[in-house]
Amino acid sequence: LHDRDGKIWMDGELVDWRDAKIHVLTHTLHYGCGAFEGVRAYRTERGTAIFRLQEHTQRLFNSAKILRMQIPFSVEEVNEAQRAVIRANGLESGYIRPLTWLGSEKLGVSPKGNRVHLMVAAWAWGAYLGEEGMKRGIRVKTSSYTRHHVNITMTQAKTVSNYTNSILANMEATDDGYDEALLLDTAGFVSEGAGENLFIVKDGVVYTPDLSAGALNGITRNTVLHIAKDLGLEVVQKRITRDEIYIADEAFFTGTAAEVTPIRELDRVQIGAGQRGPITERIQNAFFDIVNGRNPKYAHWLTLV
Ligand code: PMP
Repeated sequence: LHDRDGKIWMDGELVDWRDAKIHVLTHTLHYGCGAFEGVRAYRTERGTAIFRLQEHTQRLFNSAKILRMQIPFSVEEVNEAQRAVIRANGLESGYIRPLTWLGSEKLGVSPKGNRVHLMVAAWAWGAYLGEEGMKRGIRVKTSSYTRHHVNITMTQAKTVSNYTNSILANMEATDDGYDEALLLDTAGFVSEGAGENLFIVKDGVVYTPDLSAGALNGITRNTVLHIAKDLGLEVVQKRITRDEIYIADEAFFTGTAAEVTPIRELDRVQIGAGQRGPITERIQNAFFDIVNGRNPKYAHWLTLV
């Protein structure tokens, strides 16, 4: 990924992709205090547009606030940086990665005295859990790793260090031949995937864990809550147990990278008919209509680049 043509926005400037480097004594590299976003731009009839840019940028600033980091740019400047990288790399659609980190002025656990940096990169990225998974559904395993407790590294911040847990869970599941991991909270209730929020459908009602189970407040999750309402579906946010997933009619993951990915199996237990469910498919289609600019009701969620 590092050796290619293109531009990366770094601390206010577009620099050549290969020159976007940091020092090995970077504080965040040693202690993991940093925050990032994952954003997608889609091709629409009116041109390339970033989906829910404002909400992603706001979450980045919220993550930084939780980490007591002061991003030295305005929300508007960070929005503009994301549009600029899509344009500078000539992307019609793609994934955008803003990241804020602490510099290399000083090491030691206290980050005080370090500069806060920000970079934004973008590249083409297809279906995160595979095209096949989008149609047929993926196979998921309940992880032996627990999702962060709400009073450990803070679960509403999309922090760099939180992802060590996601990496361990994902590697364990994929080494066992599954596509993705599902993490439970410290009380044993369903929290979320390694990089996705979870939904289930039972008797026509849509359920998702409430945020007290420590899941990230996903922007795609929020989008799906809007879609479900538009489709006239009842949505309940509540505590969910893993066996409720086993006996659900349908299940799916949501995320900026994963979009809306059906789940056909959990822990080798087939969910419903073992394929993408009809409600999941309706939600998936509505999602792609919105992100590709085919639903005027949500035109305000699309920022042209
Ligand atoms: N949970 C985790 C742990 C994630 O990494 C992500 C992806 N950002 C999500 C949920 C989904 O969030 P969003 O829909 O905002 O991408």
